[in-house]
Amino acid sequence: MDAHDSQPHQVLPHLRAVLPPDRILTDPSSLDDLARDQLRRRRAIHLPFGVPATPVAAVLPRNTDDVAAVLHVADELGVPVVEHGGGTGLMGGALCLKPAIVLDMRGMHRVLAISAEDRSVKAEAGAVLADVDAALAAHGLMLGHDPWTYPIATVGGAISTNSLGYRGGRYGSIVDQVLGLTVVLPSGTVIRTRAVPRSSTGPRLHQLFAGAEGVLGVITEVTLRAFPLPERRALLAFEFPSFEHGFSAAHELFRLGLTPALLDFGAPPRGSGRMYLGFEGLSEEVEAIAPRAAAICRHHQGVDVGGEVARAFWEHRHVTAEQLQAWRRLERAEPAPGEPGSSVVDYLHVALPPTRVVEYVHRCTALFEARGIQVREWGLWYGPELLSVAITRATDTPAELDIVVRAVDEALMLAQDLGGTMEYVHGVGIRYAHLMAREHGAGLEALRALKRALDPHGILNPGKLGL
Ligand SMILES: Cc1cc2nc3c(=O)[nH]c(=O)nc-3n(C[C@H](O)[C@H](O)[C@H](O)COP(=O)(O)OP(=O)(O)OC[C@H]3O[C@@H](n4cnc5c(N)ncnc54)[C@H](O)[C@@H]3O)c2cc1C
Repeated sequence: MDAHDSQPHQVLPHLRAVLPPDRILTDPSSLDDLARDQLRRRRAIHLPFGVPATPVAAVLPRNTDDVAAVLHVADELGVPVVEHGGGTGLMGGALCLKPAIVLDMRGMHRVLAISAEDRSVKAEAGAVLADVDAALAAHGLMLGHDPWTYPIATVGGAISTNSLGYRGGRYGSIVDQVLGLTVVLPSGTVIRTRAVPRSSTGPRLHQLFAGAEGVLGVITEVTLRAFPLPERRALLAFEFPSFEHGFSAAHELFRLGLTPALLDFGAPPRGSGRMYLGFEGLSEEVEAIAPRAAAICRHHQGVDVGGEVARAFWEHRHVTAEQLQAWRRLERAEPAPGEPGSSVVDYLHVALPPTRVVEYVHRCTALFEARGIQVREWGLWYGPELLSVAITRATDTPAELDIVVRAVDEALMLAQDLGGTMEYVHGVGIRYAHLMAREHGAGLEALRALKRALDPHGILNPGKLGL
């Protein structure tokens, strides 16, 4: 069957043969919800016509065998499969480009085992980060991964985008915390990697599926490192006269080897900005490091605005599912970019060598402003090399939308040209697929060869990652 022709009546009987009826969703409201993620139309993108496509069905697998059975059906029929975790991805990774079977991984949401002695937790891939963390807390442990979307995003989705959380400075991206994975390949073959922190037996296979956005295999179970709940946390907030001042402070912190668990800084191009720093761990460690960091901030003209401000930031750092739904409703009521009265609000997250960051900020600010695009804020997350920018522009006509789309591409390519990467945290999805050849050079053909080898019929999340 050609993927374009997938029709529910051709696919459903096969799904019903392998799953109970309550695990197959066909109602329009669920399908509409599961056809998309948080790639919002207000971003600078020309969404292809007809996207998102209505899924032929959504399924809620109960275990790895269910996933293997669904992939077998899809492979036989040539129907695309799109994995859906929390649906919080920002790049269209979970967007349905064609009528597909959506694997709603939240059907597999159990925490399977916690070992305080081994400092590990094993969970199904559809488990929500906050739920895994809550289970760990009862054992005096926690996850090292804490993104904005912690109450909604799943462990499988986070690994598939190589997500980075607020505590990334201390614990790294989620993939740094993965000990082992269970993955189902499109053929139905199940791979179980050994859940150990180090192994020198060839390339570590679990890393192949990290950041792979579901195009190479479906992650069904995950073993993650668990960390002791910190004895002490110190939160600081400093106001800097400019982005450049805050950047210098962050740069010096890292040059000295101080790695705050939290570093979050934002400033408009010609204004002052606030940096939040968080240190956690053993009391002695935090008591030694936090004052040193504060002294460095003061040296770079940072003004201490008080622990209360920092604590308020920390307490409100997550986004809720209700907020996301409200934003989506609001957006649907607004004119689409390119229509009269519309505007684009976009944000980029590039990584650069620290020595190129300030140059990049100045060149991009000029690039955007020359096209009538307002730079709302430059930001740092985690450390001096992870840079973000939030921009906005009125887009009353398609030509104006095009101006923003092109400017964003130029900014991403400038990051590549300065020795950086076009995205450090949210993945590629469909959003940046057109720049993958430029990002990876000959490496993209190696990735495509891998995709062909593992997924010869191209059923797994086609069109994502430029593969
Ligand atoms: C307001 C907001 C704030 C955000 N803040 C952060 C942040 O602080 N840090 C950060 O890193 N990200 C952030 N994001 C992005 C998003 O939360 C992350 O990308 C998150 O890791 C995605 O998890 P998910 O479960 O929602 O995955 P989904 O969006 O459902 O899926 C993401 C990708 O993974 C694939 N996938 C999902 N599950 C599986 C699986 N089991 N096996 C194989 N492939 C799978 C999907 O097909 C898709 O390609 C933010 C998003 C929003 C809307």
